[in-house]
Amino acid sequence: MDKKEEKASTNENLEVKEHLKCLILGSGPAGYTAAIYAARANLSPVMYTGMQMGGQLTTTTEVDNYPGYPDGTDGTAMMEDLKKQAERFGTQVRFGMATKVDFSGKVKKVIIDENTLIEADSVILATGATAKYLGLESEEKFKGYGVSACATCDGFFYRDKVVAVVGGGDTAAEEATYLAGICKKVYLIVRRDELRASKVMQKRVTNTKNIEVLWKHQTKEVTGDQVVTGLELYKNKGEEGEETVKIDIDGFFLAIGHTPNSDIFKDFLKTDEVGYVQTIPGTAKTDVPGIFACGDLQDNTYRQAVTAAGTGCMAALDAERYLGEME
Ligand code: FAD
Ligand code: NAP
Repeated sequence: MDKKEEKASTNENLEVKEHLKCLILGSGPAGYTAAIYAARANLSPVMYTGMQMGGQLTTTTEVDNYPGYPDGTDGTAMMEDLKKQAERFGTQVRFGMATKVDFSGKVKKVIIDENTLIEADSVILATGATAKYLGLESEEKFKGYGVSACATCDGFFYRDKVVAVVGGGDTAAEEATYLAGICKKVYLIVRRDELRASKVMQKRVTNTKNIEVLWKHQTKEVTGDQVVTGLELYKNKGEEGEETVKIDIDGFFLAIGHTPNSDIFKDFLKTDEVGYVQTIPGTAKTDVPGIFACGDLQDNTYRQAVTAAGTGCMAALDAERYLGEME
């Protein structure tokens, strides 16, 4: 029995709770925007929010770059507004997590919280991506108080200040050069003696005067009282052992990669090597008819609220057309 057959057979143990035209998984900007459009198109969408109702933006106090908010907004408040807007047109928003799917047939099957089987003619996947963190207690403590995983989102708050970026890939190089345009100084903390980033990005880093690369350094602790004020690092000196290094900073940016929340879909959909769901360029269609993907789940490049919302709109419009053709 292959993986698809195995998953399909487990679904048969549960009774079908309901059959929907359009099921939406995820309640970030992508999911809510898809819900607004799907509801207005009379698709009677049902959304399962996942564990983080409102998505990643609920972890930030200030969103300054989402169009339509001249004075910026609070991430949680913005997501509450999006929820209300989706509900105003009839979206049913339910708390619950998709734990298993079977996309092998024309009717799509999704198990919620391991105990409720839903069938749907179309499914919009908007389960986002999760930034990787180092796993330090001190890092957790300062999330939102000087620790961030998004330079484009939070860099502005560190204008003329000193920040550190950890990572050695394209994201780290990109975040470091972006921050260098805003901040007084940027430390780039790299655990090896070379960058994984592409040659072009490496060149950009080395050509930027206010970036100092700390080679062979790893983060031991993020330090501070109410907010981040420094880092304790250790430098790998090979056979000579390790040297502890302390630096003063105002902000600490993680850029060690993201994990798309696609684990339960991978056996049914085409993903890239990292796990991002692949969509047909210019659409939100996946390689499985009736399954649409939007937001960070399928976007390894932009990962912004406004692009998530934009692709959420695309997913709902693509689903509407698909369902129209089915009738
Ligand atoms: P997400 O917001 O990641 O939401 C994913 C949703 O899927 C969640 O509701 C989750 O509960 C749900 N989910 C996950 N798994 C399942 C499952 N199995 N079943 C059901 N639901 C599931 N962008 C900006 O444009 N401006 C900013 O200022 C900004 N600030 C940011 C600050 C921080 C600290 C972070 C982390 C990100 C920030 N971003 C910002 C990026 C922005 O938050 C993301 O690009 C955006 O939220 C992606 O939206 P999404 O809808 O694709 O996914
Ligand atoms: P990545 O390529 O996986 O790089 C992650 C980096 O973080 C690596 O340098 C890795 O170190 C480091 N790292 C991982 N865990 C760490 C830890 N615990 N402590 C310290 N460092 C750690 O991820 P990415 O940079 O996000 O890029 C993901 C993909 O998107 C890549 O394919 C990239 O090319 C692409 N991308 C492209 C662009 C662009 O073209 N403009 C921009 C952004 C991203 P090691 O090197 O030692 O493993």
